[in-house]
Amino acid sequence: MLIRVNKFLSSDALSFNVNENFVIDDEDFLAKTHLDKNIEFSGDIFKVEDSVLLTGTIKYTFADVCARCLEDFDNTVVTKFEAVIVSKLSEDEESDEIQLVITDGCVNLDEIIKQMIYLSMPMKSLCKQDCKGICPTCGVNLNLEECKCENNLTDPRFNKLKDLLKD
Ligand SMILES: [Zn+2]
Ligand SMILES: [Zn+2]
Repeated sequence: MLIRVNKFLSSDALSFNVNENFVIDDEDFLAKTHLDKNIEFSGDIFKVEDSVLLTGTIKYTFADVCARCLEDFDNTVVTKFEAVIVSKLSEDEESDEIQLVITDGCVNLDEIIKQMIYLSMPMKSLCKQDCKGICPTCGVNLNLEECKCENNLTDPRFNKLKDLLKD
């Protein structure tokens, strides 16, 4: 995704806002992450003293598996990042800020967006906050049906309680 910044930089405007739907066409990346290729991006670019900053918000969806009931579900994640827009990379090795270099009047967000998605993907998610999980005895998905087993307290909060009572 390219954002044209040269007009903004030569204008008197102090900030501008970008809202764009973005499509990731990196097949390897999509396959590796089970990502839906349609990403929502919104960003603000503003001039602060001598620098130009970008704050971006990425909203993406990927095919996930619930950590508790093991069902497939679409997991939607929102992540934010900040970057500095520069005309050339600074050599400052101390700095851990993300730099976006202007090329032909634009900055290209493809790599940073992929990186941010990769870094923000949750390891374990639930299909819903109160997912009841599966019965450890009979394997029934307790969101869909009830079972007759006595020991179907799969909520980890109950497990903690049981651990506490054991000591
Ligand atoms: Zn679940
Ligand atoms: Zn059961």
